[in-house]
Amino acid sequence: MISLPLGWTGFLAVWAASYIALVILYFGSGLVLVALNRRHPERRIQKQRRSDRVRSEIRQSLVALVSIAGYVAGGLCLPANGYALFQPGELTLVSFLGWSVVSAIAYDTWFYWGHRAMHTKALFRFHALHHRSITPTVWANNSDGFVGTMIEQGYFLVAPLLLPIPPLVLVLHKLYDQASGMVGHCGFEHVASPGARKPWPLVCTTFHDQHHSNFRCNFSNTFSLWDRFMDTLHPAYDRKVEEMERPVSATPRDGA
Ligand SMILES: [Zn+2]
Ligand SMILES: [Zn+2]
Repeated sequence: MISLPLGWTGFLAVWAASYIALVILYFGSGLVLVALNRRHPERRIQKQRRSDRVRSEIRQSLVALVSIAGYVAGGLCLPANGYALFQPGELTLVSFLGWSVVSAIAYDTWFYWGHRAMHTKALFRFHALHHRSITPTVWANNSDGFVGTMIEQGYFLVAPLLLPIPPLVLVLHKLYDQASGMVGHCGFEHVASPGARKPWPLVCTTFHDQHHSNFRCNFSNTFSLWDRFMDTLHPAYDRKVEEMERPVSATPRDGA
């Protein structure tokens, strides 16, 4: 059971600790993925394009992670201080597994509709910064403006105010989201599998990469269910995943 400090001082301490943990995960997983990409140049998804935005992606991600850490800290500390509809539920193996599933589905629903709203004419300016990366690199994961970040990541602040999600579930969910987001932006397909295509609900890197290269498809985050249901899935997604499951032989061009 996580014991959370109370009051403003406690909140600031949790905010700082969350930021440090997320930055370590950002650079740690980012460097591992960059090394993996170098070993497997043939796994590159967008063969014809290269990114020249790494510096600005890192700079903007480090800024956005401040507010993301704030949402996580608020989502942990507000319920601990009594500012929530319910007190966090007791942590047992069953409640851990149950709330992990509920939180994953709730977050993906939040993300799909919030993300889709940001692709409307009225709101796209708040998300445009993220889409400057047409060929995303692993460093693009958190590269978005304040409002865009708030709409996508505000879940970690709001959900614990409405649902009795145990703090450990919220923390692990955010860490998983951070790590899987890095994989989803890395530009190389290392995790294609039958589970990431029809009839299964999971996704692989190709899913969000197609969102960056096409803009009008693949708005979900963790699962493909909302995109399939709302007919916003890229028409070639399942076929592309199947292709990427097969070993690809390297060409001299891939290593450039
Ligand atoms: Zn988008
Ligand atoms: Zn993205």
